[in-house]
Parts: sequence; C-alpha cells; structure tokens
Amino acid sequence: MTEVFGTYGGRFVPETLIPALDELEQGWRDALADDDFHRELHHLATTYAGRPTPLTLAERFAPGKRIYLKREDLLHTGAHKLNNALGQAVLARRLGKHRIVAETGAGQHGVATATVCARFGLECVVYMGEEDMRRQKPNVERMKLLGAEVRGVDFGTKTLKEATSEAIRDWITNVETTHYLIGSCVGPSPYPELVAELQSVIGREAREQVLAVEGRLPEAVVACVGGGSNAIGTFRGFVADESVRLVGVEAAGAASLGTGRTGVLHGARSSILADEDGQIADAHSISAGLDYPGVGPEHAWLRDTGRAEYRAATDEDALAAFQDLARTEGLIPALESAHALARARDLDAELIVVCLSGRGDKDLAEALAALGLS
Ligand SMILES: *Cc1c(COP(=O)(O)O)cnc(C)c1O
Repeated sequence: MTEVFGTYGGRFVPETLIPALDELEQGWRDALADDDFHRELHHLATTYAGRPTPLTLAERFAPGKRIYLKREDLLHTGAHKLNNALGQAVLARRLGKHRIVAETGAGQHGVATATVCARFGLECVVYMGEEDMRRQKPNVERMKLLGAEVRGVDFGTKTLKEATSEAIRDWITNVETTHYLIGSCVGPSPYPELVAELQSVIGREAREQVLAVEGRLPEAVVACVGGGSNAIGTFRGFVADESVRLVGVEAAGAASLGTGRTGVLHGARSSILADEDGQIADAHSISAGLDYPGVGPEHAWLRDTGRAEYRAATDEDALAAFQDLARTEGLIPALESAHALARARDLDAELIVVCLSGRGDKDLAEALAALGLS
C-alpha cells in the first residue's frame, strides 16, 4: 500500500522514519482485515462521536436549488476531524504506542486529538503556530483542559506549515514510543490513504441519505479543501458515480491545486504553493484550517485525471456565506466550510450535497471583526 496517486504521493522522509512508516502500514493493513477493529470504530462512532450525522436541506440559503448539508458540524468536538483522530488512536493503541504528537492549524485537529488521548489515556503533545494560537484561543484552552500539552511554534509564518515541521521533528526523535497523528490526507504514505479511508464514512452516509430523501444522486458534491480530508472523505462516497461532479473549494490565497506546482512538502509529492526555485510560498486565508501551502496527493491526481474540479473562494466570499447561512438557516458554519457554501450556491447544478465540515463558534471573533460587526 505504499500508495502513489499517479505521480503523486510516496515517501520523501529521512531514513529513520521508514521503519515507523512500514510498521504503521502493516498495522493499518492488519486492522482493516480485522473485524474487531471495525466493530470498535463503529461502536465509538455511534456511542461517543455522534454518527451518523444528519443531512439537512438548506432551503432558505439557496432558493431555487436543493442544497443538502452533511452535518459534520454536529460531530463531537465540532468538526469532521474526530473521524480520523478516533481511528488513528485505536490504531496507535494496537501498535503499542502510548504517546501522541500532532500538528494543528485551526485547532480543530488538536482538539480532536486531545479528546481521543483523554478518552484512551494517551500522552498528548500538540504543535501549533503562535499566529494560529492567537486566532483560535478557545481551542487552545480546550486542548489544555483536555490534558494536552500545546507547544507554540514561533518561526516562519507561525501557522500550520511550521507546526507540521515541528511535529515531524518530534516524531523522528521519539519514534519508538510515539504515534504521529496527522490531521489530514497529507504526509508520507500510508497517511493519505489511511486518513481518506477513515473520513470516507462522510461520503458513504451522505450517499445513502440523499438517495433516501431524493431518490436520486446529486448532480454535484462540494467540499472545502485545506489538506483535503473532508473533501476526499465526501468524494469517496461518490467517486464511482460518474454522473456526480466532485467539486473542491480552496481558499483563494492558499490554492495549492489551482495555482500551485508539483513539488514535495511534508513527506509527499503533490501540488504545492512554491516559487520557481521550489521555495514554499506563504498561504493566506481568513480560515486557519485552509491556510496551508500543500494538499493531499490524491487531490492532485483527481485534478489531473479530470475526475474532480477545484475552484477558489476569497475571504470575502466565505464571510458572506458565513453570515448568510447563519441568518437563513440558523447554522453558524466554520469559515472553512463557508468556502464550500460560497461556491455551491453559484454552481450550475440544482441538487447538491455540501460537506459542512465544522461549526463556526471558533471563528466568531475573527469573522465578526472582518465583517465590522464587533
Ligand atoms: C481542518 C478543517 C478543514 C480543513 O481540513 P481538510 O483536511 O481539508 O478537511 C476544513 N473544515 C474544518 C471545519 C476544519 O476544522
């Protein structure tokens, strides 16, 4: 399963990490073949995390269309990230690891990781850029309450890119005892495949739910793309249905697929924001969760093969959708998800499923200031 997606993916890591990646890959393969693993995950998903999440028709948000929201905002901890964190925590325990390191941008992955570490009694260290710590203060406080150690990263852009580099450095040093719980479908193989599989529950449920209520498949499914995990999890439910368009929406200032070039970042070959010399360029987005110059290799491959299409939304587009969804549906979306909402409502399709990847409580201060409402 040293998976390569076309020419993307692979393992661009120091030699010292190869045995750990091999061990993880073998452990993952064994888990997939083990009914007990699936039973345990299903039990946790239904009794702890809140699956299945509902599918909600957003009638007033987009008059004239039938836009259904897949409600990952209702998952425990407020975003889809828990699907992945739960699965990897169960896997880490099977591998005998008692210490977890993670990186976080918006703080949602850090909270999901701290949550599962508390639930399983695992030691937890989360790396986070200091700019993100400022933007996402409530999530920093939640992680600390849950018993995690949050280590601020104060170099470079002080955001997710640097936090990821620090988490990888920690893992290299402590690889015997530690599992690196990566938060999106990025990084060296087997992570992109592993995370996509753990998130594919979103698309499987959404497909069943939309068929049950509409009696037909949607014309399009839309999801925001940071690293790409909520999008790939949604897409996997529909990728075999050729009539269904798969639409990923990036932040305009962090469009690794739309304006990026092929290169290596954080252990995999993919489409990244870089200059002509291969220097990683800074990403900019109002949403910390999309503020990343890379993207999962499977998305680069889906783009090249034409199976998926990728669009961009600006900060302004996202803020408008954020406010409109609140006022028309009584739902405050994560700013990340608001990017998907912005493009879904002007898509030339009528029946659409949008992944509402998370709730917006964490973004209130940032969004209200930007909207001039605070
Ligand atoms: C982290 C996050 C994202 C972006 O991550 P993906 O891996 O691209 O899904 C999107 N939405 C929310 C709510 C997030 O917390």
